[in-house]
Amino acid sequence: MGAIAIPENFTYTKRYYSHFAEMAKAGFAALGKAVFGRIFGECSWKQTCEETYPEMAKVLNCSRSSVARWVKRLNEKGLIKRLNGTRSEYKTDESTKASDGFIITPSFFYTTEFTFKSGARYLRQNEIDVASYILSWSLNPKTKGYKGSMGNIARTLGISTSTASEAIEALIETELIRREETPDVLNGAAIFKYTADKDLVIAIRKAFRKNGKEEKLPENVRQINEKAERESYYSKLRAEAEREAEKRSRPLRLDGKYAAAFRERRKLDVAENKEHDAGKLQEIKKRREILWNTITDRALAFGFSETELSELGEVLPKYKCRKCSDMGTKPDGTYCDCYPEWRKRLKDIDFAAGVKSGQIG
Ligand SMILES: [Zn+2]
Repeated sequence: MGAIAIPENFTYTKRYYSHFAEMAKAGFAALGKAVFGRIFGECSWKQTCEETYPEMAKVLNCSRSSVARWVKRLNEKGLIKRLNGTRSEYKTDESTKASDGFIITPSFFYTTEFTFKSGARYLRQNEIDVASYILSWSLNPKTKGYKGSMGNIARTLGISTSTASEAIEALIETELIRREETPDVLNGAAIFKYTADKDLVIAIRKAFRKNGKEEKLPENVRQINEKAERESYYSKLRAEAEREAEKRSRPLRLDGKYAAAFRERRKLDVAENKEHDAGKLQEIKKRREILWNTITDRALAFGFSETELSELGEVLPKYKCRKCSDMGTKPDGTYCDCYPEWRKRLKDIDFAAGVKSGQIG
């Protein structure tokens, strides 16, 4: 059993990433984004939304006047269109957003008191959005969660990185989302994986099936997740190569002469930056050269050639791909073709083309 009580019959709304970007640009508060979610969610089922202000206020756990205020602004910004002058029929344009990823928000996120360390309370609007973001990634059977930076979440939702981090910490207290204990390390930064409560993911999948929508979500989310999958693939490759280099260079790093030379040279780096006296700079340079010779001599004694060392004198990781150093992108910014998922697909395409042209089979 998960940590949260999931109501049996809940509804949910979806909002596309591009909508968030538009609303963030227009300076919308999270509640404005939520009101849009209600209208857009209804529209994606029934073409139009006929939810009244009081109905919307009840679902979103806010006042009727707040709903009215945001409906007015959404209408002004052209994100929704009031139909035929009625007070409660709206339309949104879904067609252009179909290829974009979307965020699922179960309605009970607005109306349930969750247990935090400081006591029980409702989720804050930004917490709802962050939880929905993690939940949407967790619904994807391929990724089963979100692995990436806080900055990414913040940019998508149009909030600050610190707001995103605070929301994550609060949500972890409620056990609505979980953070995996061991992060991947990418360029010195820890990248954690976040997952939504398992029972909640199952319940949402069920709700999708009920509405005959189960095909749509994986396909849509797959597209936006492809980039993240790529990044995760390469970050794992790099981490593996770095771990291997660390293991392989351990005897060298434990060598007293090497370690001392390495440390002194690092210290000289700092000294060199602060020094302005030409004579003293010359001295530092000479000393650095002597230390470099010690480093390379010791490295050689342990079987490492100079070309295997970084500028600092550390043993470099052996990356699988020489073209991109397992970064996935080449120096000119284009994607590297070493991505196995792509190669597999290319092979399929080539094969299909071959069959068609009569070259195969
Ligand atoms: Zn490559």
